[in-house]
Amino acid sequence: MSLALPSHRTPADLERVLQRPGKIRLVKGAYAAPTDLAKPRGAELDDSYWQLMERLFTSRHPCSIATHDPALLDPVPLEYAHKLIQEQGIEQDNIEFEMLKGVTPERLQAMRNYGYRTRVYLPYGQEWHLYLCNRLAEYPPNIHQAITDAVKYRYGR
Ligand SMILES: Cc1cc2nc3c(=O)[nH]c(=O)nc-3n(C[C@H](O)[C@H](O)[C@H](O)COP(=O)(O)OP(=O)(O)OC[C@H]3O[C@@H](n4cnc5c(N)ncnc54)[C@H](O)[C@@H]3O)c2cc1C
Repeated sequence: MSLALPSHRTPADLERVLQRPGKIRLVKGAYAAPTDLAKPRGAELDDSYWQLMERLFTSRHPCSIATHDPALLDPVPLEYAHKLIQEQGIEQDNIEFEMLKGVTPERLQAMRNYGYRTRVYLPYGQEWHLYLCNRLAEYPPNIHQAITDAVKYRYGR
């Protein structure tokens, strides 16, 4: 018997979780999956993220937008999100922005300045090294950042 895995199911999943209480956190997903199951990083995934974000906003369900993507969050798209929120009379209190600690904190601050709630994601625990390896594999330029931070911490510059 072959087991068919559901593919590209996030829009349908979102409709289901919208029926339940609690905050919904929207992420692009940290783990690589076969392309017949999930969209890889790129313009198509970004478009989907934008559409799902709009769906969350207009549903008025409490939500958290967890991304560092400048295309989605820098001033012009954010103006668009503001306009959408105002036109639809959406409670700004229901919308939160989250980012990983240390990644583009100025962008999170910009969201805060617009009056949104913000949250910093800070992983901790005994198996921190596994999390670190995952983050480095996901975004290799972080290796350079980690070395720079370690030197700065050691020598204070
Ligand atoms: C608060 C929070 C919670 C999350 N929870 C989950 C979860 O529960 N499950 C899950 O699968 N994934 C989770 N993720 C991971 C997420 O799905 C992405 O893998 C990760 O955030 C990178 O995607 P992006 O949306 O920032 O956009 P991308 O398109 O990947 O990146 C856009 C830009 O952001 C910057 N950037 C992105 N990631 C990093 C980084 N690590 N370091 C430095 N710069 C970076 C770069 O400039 C990059 O060009 C979470 C992410 C956040 C912020």
